[in-house]
Amino acid sequence: MLKNDQLDQWDRENFFHPSTHLAQHARGDSANRVIKTASGVFIEDRDGNKLLDAFAGLYCVNVGYGRQEIADAIADQARELAYYHSYVGHGTEASITLAKMILDRAPANMSKVYFGLGGSDANETNVKLIWYYNNILGRPEKKKIISRWRGYHGSGLVTGSLTGLELFHKKFDLPVNQVIHTEAPYYFRRADPDQSEAQFVAHCAAELEALIEREGADTIAAFIGEPVLGTGGIVPPPAGYWEAIQAVLRKHDILLIADEVVTGFGRLGTMFGSDHYGIEADIITIAKGLTSAYAPLSGSIISDKVWKVLEQGTDENGPIGHGWTYSAHPIGAAAGVANLKLIDRLNLVQNAGETGAYLNATMTEALAGHPNVGEVRGAGMLCAVEFVKDKDSRLFFDAADKIGPQISAKLLEQDKVIARAMPQGDILGFAPPFCLSRAEADQVVDATLRAVRTVLG
Ligand code: PMP
Repeated sequence: MLKNDQLDQWDRENFFHPSTHLAQHARGDSANRVIKTASGVFIEDRDGNKLLDAFAGLYCVNVGYGRQEIADAIADQARELAYYHSYVGHGTEASITLAKMILDRAPANMSKVYFGLGGSDANETNVKLIWYYNNILGRPEKKKIISRWRGYHGSGLVTGSLTGLELFHKKFDLPVNQVIHTEAPYYFRRADPDQSEAQFVAHCAAELEALIEREGADTIAAFIGEPVLGTGGIVPPPAGYWEAIQAVLRKHDILLIADEVVTGFGRLGTMFGSDHYGIEADIITIAKGLTSAYAPLSGSIISDKVWKVLEQGTDENGPIGHGWTYSAHPIGAAAGVANLKLIDRLNLVQNAGETGAYLNATMTEALAGHPNVGEVRGAGMLCAVEFVKDKDSRLFFDAADKIGPQISAKLLEQDKVIARAMPQGDILGFAPPFCLSRAEADQVVDATLRAVRTVLG
C-alpha cells in the first residue's frame, strides 16, 4: 500500500480534478480526501474516518454503498462479456433487458431508450436528436433551446450552455448562441416581496412566453428543465409551475426535455419526477440513479412522437450518424438491471418518499427558526437549507463570506457528515441514499444545527 505522503504528492503532481480550485489543490492548500471504502450511507477515508454521506456522492449512489448484488452483476458481466458495441443493431442481454425495464417504469408515452455514459452526454444527444427531428420535419430554423437560469444540465459545450450557472460559463465562451435562458422557478429568491406563489408562477410563464415571442416560436425547438432545480439550489417549483409552463410550450409547438438525472428512479418518492409533477415530456434524461453510480451509464428516453420522426429520417438518409463506443456498455447495463431490481425488492422509492419527508420535517423543525435560515425546502429525499444575513429583508450574505462552504466544512469537521455547499448562494444541500434510516436522518439534522450554531451563533 502506498504511504499517504506519496499518494498526496502524486495527486498534486498528476491528477487534474474536476470542479476543483486547480492552483490551491496543486499547492496542497485544499482538502485532499482519499476515499477507500463504503457501506450503506457511510464512506470511509484512508485514515479510517467514517463519514455519513448525506449527498450520496453527487446525488447518485441512490441504493447506498456496498451492494453486493450489483457488484456481483458487474463481475459476472465482465467475466462473461466485458464489452461489445451496440452499433448496427447489436446488443447484449443486459442492455436489451435494461431498456425494457426502463420503459416499463417510464411514463406511458415513452417509446425507446438511447444509452450514453453520463448526464452531460445524454443531454448532448437530446439536443442533437431534436435538431435532427426538426430538420426531418423541414423546420431548419427551429433550433434554439430554452433552459432556466440555475438549471443544471451538464458541462459540455451545449450542455454547459444549458446549465444556467455563471461559473460554468465564464472564461469558457459559453453559452453557445443556440441556447437561451429564462426565469428560474425560485420563489424564495426571485419573487417580489408581495408576490403570491400563484402570481410568481404566472410571471414565470409570462417571461417564457415573452422570450418565445421575442425570438420567434419558429426558431425555438425545445425547453429543458429539471423537475426540481438541483445543483442550482435544490428548489422545488411552486405549485402549478409545470402546468403553466407546459401550456405555453404546447401553444408554441416546443418540445419538452425533462432532465431527470437527479430525480429519475425514485428520488422524489415516485419513479420519475415527471410522475410527481404531471410533466408530459417528449424526452427524459436519465443517468445517476439508473445504476446508482456503480458504473457509468445514462440514457435518453424518447417519446413515441419524437421516435416516429427519427425513424422517418433514417428511411430517407440511412443510419443515424450518432453513437458512442460505449453506448449501452454491458457492464453499465448489468449494473442498471441489478440496481433497478434492488430498488424494487427493497421498496426504496417508497423509502425515499417517507424518510425524505421525515428528513425535511425534522430539518425544518430544528432549523427554520434560526435567524439566519431563510428557508428550509425539499421534495422526497432532497433537502436544502438556505442562509440569509437578514431574514425579514431577505438580505443575502456576500459570496466572499463563503457562509455555505464554512457550514459544510464545520459539519464535516465536527460530526463527520457530508452535505454539499451548492455552487451559487449560501445553500446547504442534502440528497442522501434512499436507504437512510430515521436515526441517520436525526444524526444529519443534529449535526447541521450544531454546525450552523458554530458558524453563525
Ligand atoms: N443533468 C442534471 C440534472 C444533473 O444534476 C447533472 C449532474 N449533476 C447532469 C445533467 C450532468 O451529468 P454528468 O455529470 O453525469 O455529466
